[in-house]
Amino acid sequence: MALEKHRHIIMECVSCGLCQSNCPIYKQTNLESNSAKGKMTILFALLEGWLNWDEVAERMYECTTCKNCQATCLSGLDIPAVVEAARAELVKRGLGNKISAQLVENMQKTHNPFGEDPKARNRLKELAEA
Ligand code: SF4
Ligand code: SF4
Repeated sequence: MALEKHRHIIMECVSCGLCQSNCPIYKQTNLESNSAKGKMTILFALLEGWLNWDEVAERMYECTTCKNCQATCLSGLDIPAVVEAARAELVKRGLGNKISAQLVENMQKTHNPFGEDPKARNRLKELAEA
């Protein structure tokens, strides 16, 4: 499992919470489980078998991978790399982010992330050129 390769980062997090105030998702939601500290605690519980993948999915997708936590962390822990590894495993297990899946499907079908009819784009182009 890809996440196992990042176990050392999860174990190195000392839950000091220094990164918390710099996390944009924590600022928005005020949920400790959304901070890097919370995410590492959740993933530790997952690796130990105390939580299931479907129970951690929402928190893993609620991260912008902005690296603010890494910049603040005194150990410079690469939390976004851990989150991305967890997301890769979630996708493998059929627990991928529904919105991302929809965007990909739209692109494949219509070459437009919103699933709009490509003819509408041509009409706009014609109008702009008229
Ligand atoms: S990378 Fe994720 S956990 Fe870290 S500060 Fe950004 S949003 Fe928060
Ligand atoms: S990620 Fe770093 S700053 Fe944040 S709680 Fe863990 S050790 Fe502390």
